[in-house]
Amino acid sequence: MLCDECGLRKAAVYQRHSQRALCEECFEKDLIKRVERSLANYGVSKRERILLAVSGGKDSIAMMFLLSRIFPRENLRAVTIIEGVKGYSRSREVSICDRVANELGIEYEAMHLKDIVGFSVSELVERSREMNLNISPCSFCGVLRRRALNVVAREQGVSKVATAHTLNDEVQTMMLNVLRGDTMRLVQWHPRSVPHSEKLVKRIKPLREIYEYELAIYAYLRGVELQEDQCPYLVQRPTLRFRFKEFLLILEALRPGIALRMLRETELLVEPLVNHVNKSGIVLPLCERCGEPTAPNRKLCRICEYLEALSLS
Ligand code: SF4
Ligand code: ZN
Ligand code: ZN
Repeated sequence: MLCDECGLRKAAVYQRHSQRALCEECFEKDLIKRVERSLANYGVSKRERILLAVSGGKDSIAMMFLLSRIFPRENLRAVTIIEGVKGYSRSREVSICDRVANELGIEYEAMHLKDIVGFSVSELVERSREMNLNISPCSFCGVLRRRALNVVAREQGVSKVATAHTLNDEVQTMMLNVLRGDTMRLVQWHPRSVPHSEKLVKRIKPLREIYEYELAIYAYLRGVELQEDQCPYLVQRPTLRFRFKEFLLILEALRPGIALRMLRETELLVEPLVNHVNKSGIVLPLCERCGEPTAPNRKLCRICEYLEALSLS
């Protein structure tokens, strides 16, 4: 069977949402086109220096390949933040990232969360268990990782931090924000939203228009063997997102392409609100303890609140 796009080469991938069979080259071109669309939506220029947050999973590996096709290599650097979860060293993922970064000529470094923010995830989890506090490991991990990436991005003088969130992730996030009625998070979810603090480096998600299954195929076609270990705290993750994940797969099977349409249509719907908030001149307050930006009307940031609750401040 020949490629539906070029009609010359053998088709290698069936793309459900477009109902086309594509050869490897046309498939990659199609992915790059959607990444470039997202980058344009974020207003990113190819001259900017970008820090890639890579975990070593298929999505982040695919992101390294795709961004290296778009940006000059010297404008990209990649980092893995090692959370410090007992029994989860990430050594396998780090060696995959290292190999791919080397192959692509991208500077790469694996860094420990504890060295950047002073605590590992397991330290906080154990402390909270000792104190009988019901805080999920992923809550600690999320805020610490986010802080660490921002600190590293600032230190390295990059203008954006790219994460490998996929179309599936983005639609789940959007639906959760809508259901919770969390308008501010819905605004932040939009590519055009601005960070409201000079201490925050803008985060971008270049893969936000690409399906997870496409990234798995792409990583496979690039010859990357993926052997992700699993974080032992994964089973304690909040379940609502997982339910949406399954729901979205069912919807997508019934109506191929629905996730992409939902993402694009919701972006258009939210845009006037985003423009309004961007012009509002909001400046985020700084945490009284650590000096990092925090949410409006808060004195402490989430991390300092956790440390206080754990009597670690
Ligand atoms: Fe962090 Fe939770 Fe993922 Fe483990 S499962 S790496 S704790 S977010
Ligand atoms: Zn083709
Ligand atoms: Zn703080």
